[in-house]
Amino acid sequence: MQSHRRRAGIAVALSGITVIAAAAVTWAAATDNLVPTNNYTVGCLTGMSGGTVCRTDNADVTYYMDSGGNDKLEDIDKANVRVAIQEFHDKTDLKVSYDSSPSWTGGSETDIYYAEATVPGSDEGLTWCNDNSPGAFKCDQQYVRIEGGGHYSPGLSCHETGHAVGLLHGAEASPTLPNQDSRLGCMKKTPGFADGLGTNNRENINANY
Ligand SMILES: [Zn+2]
Repeated sequence: MQSHRRRAGIAVALSGITVIAAAAVTWAAATDNLVPTNNYTVGCLTGMSGGTVCRTDNADVTYYMDSGGNDKLEDIDKANVRVAIQEFHDKTDLKVSYDSSPSWTGGSETDIYYAEATVPGSDEGLTWCNDNSPGAFKCDQQYVRIEGGGHYSPGLSCHETGHAVGLLHGAEASPTLPNQDSRLGCMKKTPGFADGLGTNNRENINANY
């Protein structure tokens, strides 16, 4: 009877230790890749040529996909954006919702605008801040542009959406990671067709929003 109780006591203590260790592993992101990091302290600049990655200015993220004219997304493109967006909504602290009547001016513009159009240079996608917010690293409205002809994949949509909320490539993370390190998920510099957020990006978003 006595020894049975003692064993039970030890078992409880051990399981307590196990739980603590598991929690520590869960929250240790591979790298800090959300603006700003020790290797990326550039403030948010407005404009396509600004070339900066900025956070979005709130955790309630609204988005609009161009639906008419030259820059509209085809149905398949929209479906792939929704696949990417759904992961941000379901797996992070961000609440993402579609804004069918977008706002382009004022203090709370639609947060992310997706268009299909030519991207300068050799990249297939580009994200820039169209209206930076007071408070160095934040943007009120992000423009995402991805080229046509099947480039609007779930992986690239996830990548550009990641930039729109402040996620960086491995070279700007701290510590730095190779740009194609698998732990970067869809934030690999060249993401795979179906790359998703992954654990590291999710943990960085949840630590910052
Ligand atoms: Zn990128």
